[in-house]
Amino acid sequence: MALNTQAPQTASPSINEEPKGLILIVDDTPHNLQILSTALTKQGYQVRGAANGSMALIGARNIMPDLILLDIKMPEMDGYTVCEKLKAEAETQEIPVIFISALDDALDKVKAFDVGGVDYITKPFQLAEILARVDNQLTIGRLQKAQRLQNEQLQKEIRNRIAAETQIQALNADLEQRVIQRTERLNQEIAQREQAQKLLKYMAMHDPLTDLPNRTLFLNHLEEALQQLQQTPDHSFSLLFLDCDRFKAINDALGHLVGDQFLVAIGQRLQTCVGDQMLARLGGDEFTILLQNTPNKTVATSVAETIQQSLLRPFDINGNEFFISASIGIVISHSSYKQPADMLRDADTAMYRAKALGKARHVVFNTSMHEDVQNSLQLETDLRRAIDRQEFILNYQPIVALDTGLIRGFEALVRWISPDLGFVSPGQFIPLAEDTGLIIPLGEWVLREACRQLRTWQTENLTDIPLTMSVNLSVKQFSQPNLIETIDQILAETQLSAHCLKLEITESAIMENSESAAKILDQLRARHIHLSIDDFGTGYSSLSYLNRFPVNTLKVDRSFVSRLDSDEPNIAIVQAIVTLAQTMGMDVVAEGIETTEQQLQLKSLGCEYGQGYLFCKPVNAEAASEILTRKNHSFG
Ligand code: C2E
Ligand code: MG
Ligand code: MG
Repeated sequence: MALNTQAPQTASPSINEEPKGLILIVDDTPHNLQILSTALTKQGYQVRGAANGSMALIGARNIMPDLILLDIKMPEMDGYTVCEKLKAEAETQEIPVIFISALDDALDKVKAFDVGGVDYITKPFQLAEILARVDNQLTIGRLQKAQRLQNEQLQKEIRNRIAAETQIQALNADLEQRVIQRTERLNQEIAQREQAQKLLKYMAMHDPLTDLPNRTLFLNHLEEALQQLQQTPDHSFSLLFLDCDRFKAINDALGHLVGDQFLVAIGQRLQTCVGDQMLARLGGDEFTILLQNTPNKTVATSVAETIQQSLLRPFDINGNEFFISASIGIVISHSSYKQPADMLRDADTAMYRAKALGKARHVVFNTSMHEDVQNSLQLETDLRRAIDRQEFILNYQPIVALDTGLIRGFEALVRWISPDLGFVSPGQFIPLAEDTGLIIPLGEWVLREACRQLRTWQTENLTDIPLTMSVNLSVKQFSQPNLIETIDQILAETQLSAHCLKLEITESAIMENSESAAKILDQLRARHIHLSIDDFGTGYSSLSYLNRFPVNTLKVDRSFVSRLDSDEPNIAIVQAIVTLAQTMGMDVVAEGIETTEQQLQLKSLGCEYGQGYLFCKPVNAEAASEILTRKNHSFG
């Protein structure tokens, strides 16, 4: 039993006309099928027929009609059941069903609508009614379909829009995220840059070793303090300029590493003394302190005393104990100071005065020091000119053997005869020459002149005794890298034998240059040049270097000799020096012998040589020549 799709029942619309719709007619009465089919075909519909419920279900699924005319009363499966099944399937549930039935009962109609029918036609039917209702339903269906399509389109558009919006939102969120990340990165970079700038600024203002403020920062603060002083004249402050005593010797002896550790420890010690007042490291072993609110100088000097007291305690560096003292210059604020550099300069001057007065003390600046500085500046200018104008001469003081009174040699002592200042003592100008470096050309001249003079005496055959010439060498000269070269050159020039030359250096020259000293002294020994330690007993009195260095002579300082007559302990000291020299194979020369008692005393203590006014004051070359021409030229 197949779906009836034969031509007689399904007359097609003319070729030109578009079919109005596909209609499935379900009726178990062939006659009804025929009538309906013909009528609908004529109207331009495409028609398919089904004679029972099962065929209707199959036909509906296969051909998907636009409308179904469904008879209710059929054997096996009635129209309601067919309709229910059609509505239960997704594919077919949208197909409109018009029931056709002979039953003219309101309840049936209700049931027909209940199971999903859209209309109801009662048999015997009027064809016109059927056509009208079919047409009506198809129109409704088309409208609904169009509506559905429209809705679908709308929904699609909405979905698209929502999708687009979601995408935009996602893009926005991504963009925002990126902006946040970029801002964070930028902020980070800015923070890093700021941090770096801060660090650079800090480094520019602080000393890397001690982490204390440096000169620049200190001068800035000093400038601020001076400005405040201009605005509020009641404001008062002080500047302390501190320089460690003999720090160079520590550095040279122990090396820069220990020297640096020592400076750090000194900085910390000073900080505890001054609390939150400003402490800076100016450079090297120099520190400065800015004390606020110091209405009188007592406040500043008591801080200086506290510092000096605290420095008396030993410093522990790597388990070793070290000691240091400091010289402090103090300046009290005054409205006449306009520039920080001026105040610093005066504190420096006061500090130098503290050094000159014997170190390890403090001195408050006063204006007379300024004059002293100016005088010394004038003296420096004069001294410079004196070297150019050759205003120096040498005096010679005989060194004699204490037992025979015979001359063994001379000590050359420089004299400045200034046309403006008259006689200027070496005690006055030698320290200045050392400070200014003028000692280098002056010392070279002295050495050359002394060697030349001795060589002259030798060639004139004034004596048959092998004389020596002692020449003083300052600390500065001793640290000159070309010292040996200069000596070689002078000896070559003057033709003097090296063993006739004795160089006098002080203990500090060795101690302050201990690194280079050993090398220089070895080179001197290789040339048979003698070496004397001048003013022995007044300096470091560290005997350890005597072991290490090739020293020939100890010169006992005049301060011991002058007190020999009265002072018991002095005798013991001189005795000790003589014994020390003898055990180490060195000579002893006593300086500044003025009395016969001193001479006898020294002789009895075993001292072999001496010099002093008792025998002869330092005399010029002419007078020295006369002494040499004297018969046996002794001072017995
Ligand atoms: P110095 O090397 O210890 O020289 C000895 C000083 O003692 C000399 O003083 C000398 O005149 C003095 N003197 C000698 N015998 C007596 C005495 O019996 N009684 C007294 N009261 N004094 C005596 P001067 O010539 O004034 O020299 C002082 C210091 O200046 C020297 O001490 C030396 O350190 C330094 N000096 C002198 N000439 C030179 C030089 O050419 N180069 C260097 N670098 N320093 C020199
Ligand atoms: Mg001397
Ligand atoms: Mg001396």
